[in-house]
Amino acid sequence: MPLTVEQGSPLPLLLDFAGLERADLEQAAVGLGLPSFRGRQIFQWIHQRGVSDFAAMTNLPRLLRDTLAKQAAISEPQLDTRQVSSDGTTKFLLKLGDGRRIEAVYIPDTPGQTFCISTQVGCAMACGFCLTGKMGLLRHLTTAEIVGQVRVMARETGLAGTPFNIVLMGMGEPLHNYDATMRALRILTDDKGAALPARRITLSTVGVLPGLQRLATESLMPNLAISLHATTDDQRDALVPVNRKYKLQELMDVCRAFPLRRRARITFEYVLLAEVNDTPDDARRLVHLLAGIQAKVNLLPLNEADGIEYHRPSEARVNAFAKILADRGVTVSVRKSRGRDIRAACGQLLVETPLTH
Ligand code: SAH
Repeated sequence: MPLTVEQGSPLPLLLDFAGLERADLEQAAVGLGLPSFRGRQIFQWIHQRGVSDFAAMTNLPRLLRDTLAKQAAISEPQLDTRQVSSDGTTKFLLKLGDGRRIEAVYIPDTPGQTFCISTQVGCAMACGFCLTGKMGLLRHLTTAEIVGQVRVMARETGLAGTPFNIVLMGMGEPLHNYDATMRALRILTDDKGAALPARRITLSTVGVLPGLQRLATESLMPNLAISLHATTDDQRDALVPVNRKYKLQELMDVCRAFPLRRRARITFEYVLLAEVNDTPDDARRLVHLLAGIQAKVNLLPLNEADGIEYHRPSEARVNAFAKILADRGVTVSVRKSRGRDIRAACGQLLVETPLTH
């Protein structure tokens, strides 16, 4: 396979190894006149050991390390700033090769350790209650930039080599950047890389249907979370504009047919907006929509922000909504908002710093 420059990425001056799957890195090695196992070794250094400096790759001959340092690169998002919330949630502002910035979040003890990563700079989906949606889409992230967030956070938190979870719930819509995202997931799950089990990865999507249908055919099966947020087309058209193209019923049909791992369920995320989608009727319609689907519901009481016209319902109202679901046999949880004091919570990722270098 020729090494192509991914759409949206800055033109690399050197051959960049950071976004290559193992087989492609082996081929790149062959392309440089090396045995393919050298590619595998480099892949292991990058993704298993978190090393992005050829000089540190001690099982490569010294001369080769020097040559690679001249001919190739292992790009990595640069840590710009880090903010720690009172609850331990840490928001990393990362700077990309072209000076753009993205956010990635470490959420401790949920009960596991979780990294929330971005797939785009901004987002094109324009959901009415989401700050990232207000930015619009600036560009897709490359595979290297998606996996790089995990490498940087694992190193910075000291969690490299320990089990952790990944949620694709940062900036962007993963199925709108399908190829780079799936390549990143294949790298993260590769047993010669971070060897993350697919069940530790959750892909969250508004339900871009062609992407979802394609995801259903993949051998790699991350957990699936659907950002539902509404129970009628009118309501969802207004809150989640992609619904104007892919209607609720079609979305639910695809979910119903979606292949799941044994004992797995689809998570339906439902942001609760006061007086908009939080009535008992909404709750009852939600129960009906989910009939026949292996589902659980995660309620997200709105994280309010300037520029967002909606409000967070009272706790009593959230509990009443949850109780209607639970009483009808639907598994439901209320997401505890983490990192709200540093604006690291759901839908609050927005890069405000100027895009200067
Ligand atoms: N684009 C994907 C990935 C983002 S996940 C998706 O939409 O699923 C982020 C989750 O937080 C989504 O469920 C999103 O709808 C939700 N969210 C966005 N803004 C929010 C807010 N202000 N308060 C609470 N949840 C929000």
